[in-house]
Amino acid sequence: MRRLAIVGNWKLYTTPASARSLALEIREAFVGFKDVDIGVCPPATSLQVVAEVLRGSNVAWGAQNAHWAQEGAFTGEVSAAALKELGCTYVILGHSERRHVFGETDEMVGKRLSFVMHSGLVPILCVGETEQERSEGKTEAALAQQLQVASRGLDGPPDIVAYEPVWAIGTGRRAELADMEAAHRFIRERLVERFENKAKEVRVLYGGSVKPENVAELAASGEMDGALVGGASLSAASFRSIIARALERRRL
Ligand code: PEP
Repeated sequence: MRRLAIVGNWKLYTTPASARSLALEIREAFVGFKDVDIGVCPPATSLQVVAEVLRGSNVAWGAQNAHWAQEGAFTGEVSAAALKELGCTYVILGHSERRHVFGETDEMVGKRLSFVMHSGLVPILCVGETEQERSEGKTEAALAQQLQVASRGLDGPPDIVAYEPVWAIGTGRRAELADMEAAHRFIRERLVERFENKAKEVRVLYGGSVKPENVAELAASGEMDGALVGGASLSAASFRSIIARALERRRL
């Protein structure tokens, strides 16, 4: 069984001061947790303070995006080198909000992914279908396209892929178990087709309205290697409860 990974995406919800308080609570909440990789991805402006608080704890931290160049005339972007210096482990890439609010294309996501992997950071590549693609029966086509373009320039697979149906993010509508399993299987098949045996170790996470009350059903599935959690990771208590329940189900 692949090791469970549960990562919180704080989106644009903290300032450095509020991030410090939340990170302090999270550090305490996870003392003694094992058999799981735990991470939080605050806004870039909160990374420094989160790193100070979480260094030496069993919670890692990461960023919500990274650029495809080491440096240059790229106003508003964040470099992988800076993230490494801040001790980041993870970088979320291709999040639905980046794709659909800020117009990031599959090609841009692919360039970011390639650079992040060469920089030694752990990418969390997000893929997922929109409501319309789902209703038109195009979920697999959407996932295949996003995976294929994003992995064009790669020698090996990304460490983590997050299946995040766009219609489930921040809406309270979680994917049904069977749909999640089918999507995860499909993602792994595409990765195995492209990267052969190396793809067996890729962790496929689910993201989209994961809450303490609905995580157990997903975590019992052999297809789920963890979760990317948005809203519910903004409270140490609910984030803790998600991870505790997921671990409990896995151990049964
Ligand atoms: C996310 O931001 O990646 C996410 C899954 O959000 P939420 O858990 O709030 O749906």
